[in-house]
Amino acid sequence: MNLKKLNPGLLWMQFEDVLAPRLGLSVKERAVYSYLLRHSLVVGKPRLQFAVIALARTLGLSFGAARQAVRRLDELGALRVLERSKRGHLAEMRVPEKIRAIRLHKNDALEALGAAAEPAASTHETTDFLKTWALRKAIHDRERGACFYCFRRTSGKVRCLDHVVPRVRFGPNSYRNLVSCCIECNTRKGDRPAPDFLRTLYRLGRLTPAELDARLRALKDLAAGKLRPALPENGK
Ligand SMILES: [Zn+2]
Repeated sequence: MNLKKLNPGLLWMQFEDVLAPRLGLSVKERAVYSYLLRHSLVVGKPRLQFAVIALARTLGLSFGAARQAVRRLDELGALRVLERSKRGHLAEMRVPEKIRAIRLHKNDALEALGAAAEPAASTHETTDFLKTWALRKAIHDRERGACFYCFRRTSGKVRCLDHVVPRVRFGPNSYRNLVSCCIECNTRKGDRPAPDFLRTLYRLGRLTPAELDARLRALKDLAAGKLRPALPENGK
């Protein structure tokens, strides 16, 4: 990419209209990507060095949330962490049009995110459901267009995947730990345990007593492996 020709207006539109919704970025992930881009490609530098603690402080995030956002952006290919050291992270930023998952949407996205370079996982239990677009879609499809937590209708633009057990607590990218939810729930839940968050929704009047019971049961079924999404046909 020719950095001198970077068009900030176009970049901003690509970020808001394509990258964030298509990758299902949370508000925190948007903030982190936007901030890091501002201090790298926007000023003509493909790479930047930053400390997660300083990033968190600047953006008003917890350390865990900032670290989680950087990790997820790395997994999605929106940036590449090249080095972690005492001085912090050294990362290479990607503009939306250079992110393979975006360029090669749908079928070709199977090759995106580096998945093609690794052997295909064929069973539910060994599959990383954040790995490809098709696998992430399988989780969204399982919830049938409703937020797992609050039942609100979700669409491609207003949904994301949430780790029931947060990644900061080592929650895996398993179908037993990932749910499709609305952006508001994803943001409000943060790093809290899911049952606590459901009870908060109940206290706020967003869930009826019966719905709360149903959601708490669904959480148990999820962890027990009873809510298996349909795997994409080629196993990826
Ligand atoms: Zn929700």
